[in-house]
Amino acid sequence: MKPEVEIYDTTLRDGSQGEGINFSVLDKLRIAEQLDSFGVHYIEGGWPGSNPKDIEFFNEARHKKFKRTKLAAFGATRRKDVAVANDDQVRLLLQADTPVVTIFGKSWLLHVKKVLRTTADENLAMIADTVRFLKENGKFVVYDAEHAFDGFKDNDEYALATWQAAEKAGADVIALCDTNGGSLPGEIAKITGTARATLRARLGIHTHDDAGLGVANALAALETGASHVQGTINGYGERTGNCNLTSVIPNVFFKLGKSCVPPSALPRLKNLSQFVDEIANFRHNPRQPWVGSAAFAHKGGTHVNAVQKIVRSYEHIDPASVGNTRNVLISDLAGRSNIVMKARELGIQLADDAPELREILARVKALEHQGYEFEAAGGSLAVLIRKILHHQALPIEVRAYHVSMRYEGKSSVCEATIKVQVDGKSAHTVAEGDGPVNALDSALRGALASFYPQVKAIRLTDYKVRILDSSAGTAAKTRVLIQSSDGREEWGTVGVSDNIIEASLQALVDSMDYRLVKKGR
Ligand SMILES: [Zn+2]
Repeated sequence: MKPEVEIYDTTLRDGSQGEGINFSVLDKLRIAEQLDSFGVHYIEGGWPGSNPKDIEFFNEARHKKFKRTKLAAFGATRRKDVAVANDDQVRLLLQADTPVVTIFGKSWLLHVKKVLRTTADENLAMIADTVRFLKENGKFVVYDAEHAFDGFKDNDEYALATWQAAEKAGADVIALCDTNGGSLPGEIAKITGTARATLRARLGIHTHDDAGLGVANALAALETGASHVQGTINGYGERTGNCNLTSVIPNVFFKLGKSCVPPSALPRLKNLSQFVDEIANFRHNPRQPWVGSAAFAHKGGTHVNAVQKIVRSYEHIDPASVGNTRNVLISDLAGRSNIVMKARELGIQLADDAPELREILARVKALEHQGYEFEAAGGSLAVLIRKILHHQALPIEVRAYHVSMRYEGKSSVCEATIKVQVDGKSAHTVAEGDGPVNALDSALRGALASFYPQVKAIRLTDYKVRILDSSAGTAAKTRVLIQSSDGREEWGTVGVSDNIIEASLQALVDSMDYRLVKKGR
């Protein structure tokens, strides 16, 4: 069945023009594989005329078998006053050997005259010649009408003439681009409607997020005649980024009710978003709509209370439909419901009227007053709840530790010694590390490994330190938040002390305790 809306991903081309993004050829291939398995219809792999890395990508991609997606090479119309067959940049597009070629051309006379410095007629010829040449070479051609909306607002007749030139030459898709990202949804809808009434080719939309409207503008076009949408995973791209496909895809499917990627892929959306962030070496944005960790997080007591009765009361959609999860935040605002829901989330059964609830709540509030924070430290909260419920004695007890640092020759070495009591037996280990926390982590892990070999799989994935304001004239406190992973699950733990090493050790011990108690020893 043909999808009602085609998804065209340009993470590897427009997305890689974003600040701080630098994909290797291997990175690009890995992302392309994921996009293919997710089911996007087109992947724009790069601009072979702009850099050798993209040429190498297409050379490698040629050997890959894509199941669902078609690969596109991106480029420009021929240069002015040059025959298209003699244009090197166009020749490289053919050499990329992709089924789809996407070229951009000018819709806006300002660009034709001031940037290209050519005539209105020559620009029309550049568009028509290039599209026709690519069609003659057997390509499926997507024509990206750069500055389509700005051009149309400046001179509607000329903008339309450029799109018609592409259509007449055989373009399969004409994608209207809000290249500068400054248009409003109403303008996009009106101009797309006019283009729909005038052109027969499939219409596409390519937007940027400069005014915070990238997704809204794409949806406006999809409601008024476009049926092909271009964007990037997580909204990567030039300046403030491109239209974010991780928002567009669920909006098309759930809100506009149109088919796009296979429905079975939607619960993998969050995974895809996290995967691409990992490859780009970005931390996943918690506030990202649909897929962020905060997208279905409930904090205010009344919200949590209502969600517990009926989830629809404060959720626009079931988080599982995009692979996300409901997350109940614990904080000063927490009511009993938060604790009960959080406990369930952590696998601890706790009745609504359990007598321990009052004590747990009081303890959480007292600790938060001291500077603890449990929102990102579900692991520490689980340990705390278990301590109060006396369900199980916690496995680890630290009896003594010592950390030292010395400078030798050209570098400094940290050494940590730790003595722990585990189920009545004690262990004593020494370890070195690049820093005091690293040394302490190694020593703790070493001491535990003889009792619980599974701690070897635990990795510290993030370590954050915050100096808390001193109140009442006491010394400033340090809060340490760590994130740990065993390859399958991630959890956060927290420690607070006026000593950074002590705070770190608390968080490290909580992390091990959490893992050992949750998964069984
Ligand atoms: Zn763009």
